[in-house]
Amino acid sequence: MPYDPNNIFARILRGEIPCVKVYEDAKTLAFMDVMPESEGHVLVVPKEDAQDILDLSADGLSAMMATVQKVARAVDKALAPDGIQLRQYTRAAAGQTVFHVHFHVLPLWEGAHLAPHGKVMVEAAKLEPIAANIRSAL
Ligand code: AMP
Repeated sequence: MPYDPNNIFARILRGEIPCVKVYEDAKTLAFMDVMPESEGHVLVVPKEDAQDILDLSADGLSAMMATVQKVARAVDKALAPDGIQLRQYTRAAAGQTVFHVHFHVLPLWEGAHLAPHGKVMVEAAKLEPIAANIRSAL
């Protein structure tokens, strides 16, 4: 399957649709997941057109992982979770639904239930204060 330049994350990267931004540099963007599984669920995408991790260049991978660590550290500092999951789904059979490679940074608290994957939409106004808290810890 060729890379679809109109996938939702490509459109966010082009500024065609909004996101609640957490961090951006020349090669990556991090923003709040609009259907978060836990409070503070952030997505990290490279700016390179790659549908999954198998297609990404070594340089894009390195930039993405550096941002994943930076954001995970900020999430840890800002929200003090008991643990953090770093998830990446490759292809639909593995649960991928948006075909621009991304990592989920998912803070977890002992005993707390996760919302289902990509199902319950939260409005931007509710995500913005959480993003501001994470940004201030970057
Ligand atoms: P995946 O199944 O790994 O491809 O996950 C895609 C993720 O993108 C899901 O967790 C969705 O909630 C999230 N998502 C979909 N559309 C948007 C959007 N417009 N802004 C932020 N997150 C999104």
